[in-house]
Amino acid sequence: MTVQQDLANLQKLQELDLKTIDIRNELDDIPNQIEDVRKNVETIRMILQKEQVRLEEAEGWKTDKEKEITLQNDLLVKSKTKLQGARNDKENKAAQREIDTIKKNISDQEKELIELMEAIEQYRIAIDEHKKEFAELEEHLKASEQEGEARMAEIKATLSEADSGRKELTVHISQQTLRLYERVQRKLGQAIVPVTEPICSGCNFGMLPQKFIELQRGESLITCPQCLRILVYTGEPIVEEPLSDDE
Ligand SMILES: [Zn+2]
Repeated sequence: MTVQQDLANLQKLQELDLKTIDIRNELDDIPNQIEDVRKNVETIRMILQKEQVRLEEAEGWKTDKEKEITLQNDLLVKSKTKLQGARNDKENKAAQREIDTIKKNISDQEKELIELMEAIEQYRIAIDEHKKEFAELEEHLKASEQEGEARMAEIKATLSEADSGRKELTVHISQQTLRLYERVQRKLGQAIVPVTEPICSGCNFGMLPQKFIELQRGESLITCPQCLRILVYTGEPIVEEPLSDDE
């Protein structure tokens, strides 16, 4: 295999590898995305549970409050009877005080009852909204799972196809070059970079003029001394010129 053939095949290999990087990332990311939706469903489920508990508590307090008000009303009737039966001014005043106290109690309890009823109403509205949101999110989760599975199958098929293509290409690349390519590709993502001037376009390292000429000639495999990327000359075809040391 000549250097030129190696480079041509390597470039095809890189094209294939770069194309699959994104879908490999996508493949890894799909379960995370589904997990995010699942977490949202779980959050709403917890909120709903808490709201249900609060609603039940408030309904319990409301029942208690209503009982208390009934009780106070019974007491009020008794006190009114007492007032009617008062035999003197002292008894009259005592009964009146009792009535005032009970009326005040009833009025306080009724205020609290109204507040409770308002709170219950708010809880019910919130629960209805969250139930709706929960149902929507559950639908969304189901759809995400189905779409995710379909997409993962699609990606796996594409990757397996790319793997076959890769195997076919790699037999035509010298082992040493392939190993270098794979090492750099794993580390830097792109192992081959186009070069038109004596600078590595991967890391901007300046090349020695002699190395650049070697690269332009395309007779040997040239790597960047700094980042180890494989350099491919993509500029104008060269006309041999004497080396100048001006720079
Ligand atoms: Zn470099």
